Amino acid sequence: MTTRQFYQSLSEISLAGETLDADIALRLLQDPDIDLLPLLHAAYDVRKTYWGKAVSIHIINNAQNGHCPEDCHYCAQAKTSDSGIEEYPIKSDDEILDEARRAYEAGAFRYCMVFGGRGPSKKRVERLSSLVRQIKAAYPIEVCVSAGLLDDSGAESLKEAGLDRLNHNLNTSEAHYPNICTTHTFKDRLNTLQAAKKSGIGLCSGAIMGMGETAEDVVEIAMRLRAVEAVSIPINFLIPIPGTTLRTFTPLSPEYCLRVLSLFRLLNPKSELRAAAGRELHLRQTQVLALYPANSLFMEGYLNTMGNSAVQTLQMIKDAGFTINSTKELDQVLNQMEANATGSEAAGSVDQVILKQLRDLRPSPYAPACS
Ligand code: SF4
Repeated sequence: MTTRQFYQSLSEISLAGETLDADIALRLLQDPDIDLLPLLHAAYDVRKTYWGKAVSIHIINNAQNGHCPEDCHYCAQAKTSDSGIEEYPIKSDDEILDEARRAYEAGAFRYCMVFGGRGPSKKRVERLSSLVRQIKAAYPIEVCVSAGLLDDSGAESLKEAGLDRLNHNLNTSEAHYPNICTTHTFKDRLNTLQAAKKSGIGLCSGAIMGMGETAEDVVEIAMRLRAVEAVSIPINFLIPIPGTTLRTFTPLSPEYCLRVLSLFRLLNPKSELRAAAGRELHLRQTQVLALYPANSLFMEGYLNTMGNSAVQTLQMIKDAGFTINSTKELDQVLNQMEANATGSEAAGSVDQVILKQLRDLRPSPYAPACS
């Protein structure tokens, strides 16, 4: 097989609904002879077939912060974390509904409400169901809830209320799971996904890269998410928040992150693949390339950390020739935001054109003194 045929075979296997051999999958992450650009192109062939050039924008609402009895080592809300986050109990319904309105107006396709904690009580499930009903009645927006471990009856109630998706990340491989959490198991997480699937809720389940996992673990989790038929897969790149338990980071290069996204795309061709938390930190200048394997992004930050603003994210999508999956046009949303933005917030604004001063033009100590 020629090199060209090799890259072509990757998208052909994926589009045929077949899975890559584990050794090929591993090579995509590790083999320096496999070049990034043709790999991204193979992933893009698959992305384009199922998703065209549309990007689904997600805005996350941290509806309750902290107070979690679990010990997920990466999480700033864990009982073991000393990260000094702003803790608060669940927001009022009015506050959550107002944030849903703002997400809709910002062009978000889906509104994600995250409630930290091990899992919701029956009373909490009733409240979440009521919130889902109110949002769905008010806005044409999809709703996703992340609320910890859930049983069959909790999942059924949320489905009845109109919930589109339940987020519950598997995070890492089964073998590596005890290294990142001791208060619940990988199996507990799988059970929650099974309860949601049984009730007919779409599964949003992803992973976090950079927690000390091996490339084999990454392949395992990508295969596992394929097996559970996750319709949405957020790939997070660890943001090491000071005070959290996790001390063993895997160094992540932008190139490796893009290989990971390409692998997940090829193994999960029809899933909505999200370049999620940490894209700014780890992909840096290459983050626009994530749009080739991934068809979904968060904007306006994550649970406890800031990220690129809505204007920056939407402008990046527009600059690369992609569109947004929304009832609104990308230009319409962007123009509205730029009209509301102040000064340098507006991407591409003339306010960003700053003339060099003499000290920038002639920094040498031998230059004549500025007059
Ligand atoms: S259960 Fe959720 S909120 Fe609690 S520590 Fe784990 S990830 Fe954080």
